[in-house]
Amino acid sequence: MYDVAIIGAGPAGGSAALFTAKAGKKTVILDSDQGITKRAMLYNHYGVKEITGPELVKTGIEQAKHYGAELIEAKVTNISKTENGFKLQYENGEVEAKHVILATGVLTDLAESIGLKTKPGTEPRIKTVFDVDADGRTNVEGIWAAGTCAGVSVHTIITAGDGAKVAINVLSELNGERYVDHDVLK
Ligand SMILES: Cc1cc2nc3c(=O)[nH]c(=O)nc-3n(C[C@H](O)[C@H](O)[C@H](O)COP(=O)(O)OP(=O)(O)OC[C@H]3O[C@@H](n4cnc5c(N)ncnc54)[C@H](O)[C@@H]3O)c2cc1C
Repeated sequence: MYDVAIIGAGPAGGSAALFTAKAGKKTVILDSDQGITKRAMLYNHYGVKEITGPELVKTGIEQAKHYGAELIEAKVTNISKTENGFKLQYENGEVEAKHVILATGVLTDLAESIGLKTKPGTEPRIKTVFDVDADGRTNVEGIWAAGTCAGVSVHTIITAGDGAKVAINVLSELNGERYVDHDVLK
């Protein structure tokens, strides 16, 4: 049983995984390699003069793995409720987790499997997004959404930041108090 399962390893999912894994939570990321970031060339990501989308995504996954996150390269086809959390099914297997963060980019087809509310997107070319509150909570308790699929502006600095924000909210709920992750210059 994982503490957190993150569906999608783009900037939103990778960033969320970095925070949950670094916080010591058992984290799994499932990714189907269908992300839009892999087509981007970035000159507007704060703190990075220029980077290709694939390099940004690869580095993010490496950072999360460094802190113990596990990556499963597979497309999640179904989410269902279990006694203690959720079961995520993919072609050759399944995982269970207490919390799920959807970071699925332009894809929201998983909504149907467990009755997640969606709404029309407001950003250019984004048709449908998960209906989340300000914390990133969907209408199903324990399932959260971050990044493009949660309706934020379609830019890597924002989707990555949203992934971090939602992860911090999940961590705060798991720990029972507001969470902060600050390393100090030595
Ligand atoms: C051509 C192009 C150029 C761009 N240029 C810029 C730019 O210059 N600057 C900028 O800031 N932004 C740019 N962007 C936008 C930027 O890439 C996105 O805003 C942002 O990075 C999206 O991040 P995300 O994590 O929300 O989604 P994505 O990066 O799309 O990641 C979503 C991930 O979820 C996975 N996934 C979805 N469903 C499932 C499932 N069922 N099971 C498993 N995995 C699943 C996908 O495979 C994917 O890897 C550009 C986008 C495009 C297309």
